[in-house]
Amino acid sequence: MKTSSFRIIPLSTEIADAARRVVNASSADHALITVDSPGSSPCRHCLRWAQPGERVILFPYAAIPSGHPYSETGPIFVHANECQRYSATNEYPADFRNGRAFRAYDSKYNIIDAQVLNGSEPEVVIENLFQNPDTAFVDARSVTHGCFTFRVLRVGHASGPPRQARTLALL
Ligand SMILES: [Zn+2]
Repeated sequence: MKTSSFRIIPLSTEIADAARRVVNASSADHALITVDSPGSSPCRHCLRWAQPGERVILFPYAAIPSGHPYSETGPIFVHANECQRYSATNEYPADFRNGRAFRAYDSKYNIIDAQVLNGSEPEVVIENLFQNPDTAFVDARSVTHGCFTFRVLRVGHASGPPRQARTLALL
């Protein structure tokens, strides 16, 4: 399904490449793993499940940067070999239509809402979270493991219409 009101933001190629360099230097917090079961290791760069036999790097990533009450660093995977960054950014990634939780953050990185799919299509849940003009972005995470999967940005307004204009519209 095409989406028009939000954009999928995969992990940057710079961060994926940095992890590939660091793991080759045998850093203690970067682990090189050979995937043994399908659906176990989502690559945050190409936004696909790594296939059995493929190698991935497991390393900590600060999805919410330090210096905020909701700061959070957690483990993510990227393919150990070069992969193509997810480019269909106006389409919800097909591999992650299930098993995701969605957290809405405001522009100061505070969590202001959170939803699981509960039978809904992910596009519907994301649109719903963006109905709140204070939602600056939505993070998709594993519903079971809690790990960050990808970010979703609103297209157009960075954080919705200005509050004053919204208030005036209600008068
Ligand atoms: Zn990948």
